[in-house]
Amino acid sequence: SVPLSYFSGIGGASKKGILIKGANYLEALTNVREVVFDKTGTLTKGEFAVKEVHPAGGFTCEEVLEAAACAEADSSHPIARSVLQAYGGEPCARMGYEEIPGHGVKAETEEGTVLAGNAKLMEREGIAYEKMEQPGTVLYVAEDNKFLGSVLIADQVKADAQDAVKGLRGMGIGTAMLTGDAQNIGNAIARQVGVDEAYCELLPQDKVEALEHIQAKNGSTAFVGDGINDAPVLARADVGIAMGGAGSDAAIEAADIVLMTDEPSSVPRAVRISKKTRRIVW
Ligand code: ADP
Ligand code: MG
Repeated sequence: SVPLSYFSGIGGASKKGILIKGANYLEALTNVREVVFDKTGTLTKGEFAVKEVHPAGGFTCEEVLEAAACAEADSSHPIARSVLQAYGGEPCARMGYEEIPGHGVKAETEEGTVLAGNAKLMEREGIAYEKMEQPGTVLYVAEDNKFLGSVLIADQVKADAQDAVKGLRGMGIGTAMLTGDAQNIGNAIARQVGVDEAYCELLPQDKVEALEHIQAKNGSTAFVGDGINDAPVLARADVGIAMGGAGSDAAIEAADIVLMTDEPSSVPRAVRISKKTRRIVW
């Protein structure tokens, strides 16, 4: 049987927009030693905006954006939405489209194959590209095996991300961040937010492995994520916590706890509620 006070703990949490799917998860939260956050959409807003376009020699900014929009037209990734918004026009006709997880996208058009993605995508496809060293997400664009240029896209850290990490540290709970993004971007965000460690350049399947590594090292671990990619990690974590506002259905489904306000600071709030509830039970 479940002690009655657990129901009041769940009720109190739900008033703060923290939906706990069962009393056992509230109990599990009291034992968490480490909280691991996904980066994009969890610690950051996931609202990307195009900041700069850098065409390669012989190409214009318009050509770079047009090709990028064409490649991204069928993607629902936040990067794709920012490119389509900056382009503004109707993207070209596509005969084929492929999303390459952790890399980017590939579309077949009348002009040839159009690629848009990170450095790993350019390397995998054998494109001679000019690397940009920028503390933001860089989208490299190629068409018909020619490098057209790059698009600098920036995201913003959520206002309460740093407080969330501080709140957890205050309770003796360690923090880490997982991201598919490049090392320099991951490190910059990790430093800004104050997490203890950052695991970068992870493919979706690598995220589960990283979580298991952290669990083995630190003990009971909660994972906080938002994306379709995050569902397997949410399921594997001792406590899976999803962003309920902008989060994907797959993440919400796989999670044990759902944060309706998408605020990382709801995580220390939930831990505090769980500890208070346990004190009442005992
Ligand atoms: P995160 O783990 O930070 O939430 P994702 O796993 O969604 O990030 O993506 C990892 C990286 O893969 C992105 O930073 C980006 O470089 C690349 N990527 C993924 N999807 C796309 C896309 N539709 N267009 C361009 N790049 C993409
Ligand atoms: Mg994400």
